[in-house]
Amino acid sequence: IIVRPIDNTALFARVNSLLRLKMMAEQWIIRETALQDQTILPDHLDMYFGKKCRYSHVMVVGSEDKKIKKLVAPLEEKKYKVIYTKSLQDAESYSDYKKIDLFIVDLDIGHEEALRFSSKLKGAEKNKNTPVLIVGDEKDSDVFVKALEIGCNDYIVYPFNDHEYLARVYTQLKKNKYQQQLEKNYQKSLSLASVDDLTGVSNRRYLYSYLNNMFKEMKVKDQKLAILMMDIDHFKDINDTYGHLIGDEVLIEFSKRLQEQFRDFDLIARYGGDEFIAVIPYVGEMLAVEISGRVRESISDTPFTISVKPHKIDVKISVGLSITDDFDRTSEEVIDEADKSLYEAKRTGRNKLCIAGQSCEK
Ligand code: GH3
Ligand code: MG
Repeated sequence: IIVRPIDNTALFARVNSLLRLKMMAEQWIIRETALQDQTILPDHLDMYFGKKCRYSHVMVVGSEDKKIKKLVAPLEEKKYKVIYTKSLQDAESYSDYKKIDLFIVDLDIGHEEALRFSSKLKGAEKNKNTPVLIVGDEKDSDVFVKALEIGCNDYIVYPFNDHEYLARVYTQLKKNKYQQQLEKNYQKSLSLASVDDLTGVSNRRYLYSYLNNMFKEMKVKDQKLAILMMDIDHFKDINDTYGHLIGDEVLIEFSKRLQEQFRDFDLIARYGGDEFIAVIPYVGEMLAVEISGRVRESISDTPFTISVKPHKIDVKISVGLSITDDFDRTSEEVIDEADKSLYEAKRTGRNKLCIAGQSCEK
């Protein structure tokens, strides 16, 4: 909405600010589309996001009671939750602990103050995407332009009617919700692409791309790296006896215990079924063997809790270990070596560790 008479500078500033918003939304869509192979733009955008705006939190900052009332009343009528204040300090501290969906700032608090407040909001991680609507007089057109330049999203000029005001408020709220949704979808797709759904550890796809980078780093640093391949013994029996869901419970607890045993910068990934991999950089054979022993004990020493009788079951694992300091090999080769050792551990009786290129310990 643009109200005549049209001020060119303000018009360009407004167009730029809208274009910036659109570009940002498009960025999220592109990233998301890349991950999902499909576009998510809902057809009923207005209906969907309109509903979500209903109980939005709006903060009004101004200095004159009469003007504050004019800004607050139409919002309250529309059932927005409105907080208003004359103190910028209050506005700041309040928005620090409560999520605000839109700030409305009247320039009567002082031009410099209003701009400083807005740029502070836009600079803070928490509110950087929260829209800011500036309110002022016709003579403030320079300030409007500056405000839009520092990232404020729209402005409105006194005297205005409630329809225009509410339309501007609604547009900003709707855009904000839409952008939040896109961002959330993107984060979700990201984790779907790298995390195993059931257990929350990394998935196989992530494991390979991680190993690629890690091999390069280890080569540069001339270090060693150990790969542990772990598989539950007779897991099929658990599924067959208690059902697939209980099998899932065991897998979840298994990954939890693994996560407790490794350092933050070791990677744990589900390789498939009941088979998990730990990548342990900067570790040679002696330490890797010690870690394997510790991990096996953490699984076998305490029975696993399941939600059906007998509520506790013993779980044991077999482990295949491969250590390398030759990073011209592919990660697949090293994984394959660990896999073969694991197979050897299974073949020669289970509940044990086998090391690539060595005979199995008992
Ligand atoms: P082994 O000692 O030789 O490892 O015997 P095992 O019974 O563990 O055999 P294997 O590792 O070949 O079997 C894995 C089983 O895990 C087969 C499959 O039905 C089951 N499985 C794979 N994915 C899942 C899952 O997500 N949940 C559950 N509950 N079971 C799964
Ligand atoms: Mg198994």
